[in-house]
Amino acid sequence: MHNFLPTAYFQGKFVPFIDANISIATHALHYGTGAFGGLRGIPDPADANQILLFRLERHCRRLSNSAKFLHFDLPADKIEHVIVDFVKQNRPTKSFYIRPFVYTSDLGIAPRLHNIEKDFFVYGLELGDYLSPDGIACRISSWTRQEDRSFPLRGKISGAYIASALAKTEAVASGFDEALLMNSQGKVCEASGMNVFIVRDGKLITPGSDQDILEGITRDSVVTLAKHLGIDVIERPIDKSELLIADEVFLSGTAAKVTPVKRVENYTLPTERPITEKLREKLTAITENRDSEFSDWVYKISLA
Ligand code: PMP
Repeated sequence: MHNFLPTAYFQGKFVPFIDANISIATHALHYGTGAFGGLRGIPDPADANQILLFRLERHCRRLSNSAKFLHFDLPADKIEHVIVDFVKQNRPTKSFYIRPFVYTSDLGIAPRLHNIEKDFFVYGLELGDYLSPDGIACRISSWTRQEDRSFPLRGKISGAYIASALAKTEAVASGFDEALLMNSQGKVCEASGMNVFIVRDGKLITPGSDQDILEGITRDSVVTLAKHLGIDVIERPIDKSELLIADEVFLSGTAAKVTPVKRVENYTLPTERPITEKLREKLTAITENRDSEFSDWVYKISLA
């Protein structure tokens, strides 16, 4: 069971989390016509009266774009204001995750996006490591990632997550920690809720945004940091066989941060991971407000 933060934003106001409930007839529950965000925050290790949110503005912009696919005009700055107030209301004391959600909130049937009410809520939970930071085993999924021509993959649409759920459960049921999905071209795409990177001959390679990936904000951070550190970054399609013989493989995501992969199927990867570690250390320092170079990625909320 999760430790949910005590206050949620629901139907336009702050209410106790346990009172923020929806009807069984809620439209989005039936048709997957919702979209969500997910961002992390921590109490500032150097100042107990300050909360640090990682790339708040980017997360709000992505959710606002996701809302457009639901024909819902929800400006990023409105989301941002609500999230800042949400944090002030909750005063979290541990590492936490915020889940803002937009959805067709009317009651009743018929899949559509016109003539239907939409709403927006926010709740949060305490969240430590989502995957083992020591490394995980990945299975190549028998499920294929959706294609952008049949699904707006640049939105974090709730209905899309049936593929992630099937893939994750298949992986765990067969003794792995996480799944890697291929795209419809048979190229490496992403994990159930993380983007994927490989290292070959000192170069960092990740599928480009034309490969049916979700445009992850951690992915963008990793690419930016790698370039800043002088590491060559190549965005291109990745073959399955490259995964198996890579020097390093890691996953990136808000929940997963940078998680090393120690095995793909029955191929064990090297335990030395210099580039993964360098990027992970840099990213951790930034999120903890210990790095002046990328301090604009950290939104600071004073609780004093
Ligand atoms: N792919 C999918 C399918 C995801 O759900 C996520 C998590 N949001 C990611 C990638 C990673 O994105 P981000 O770094 O923005 O969390």
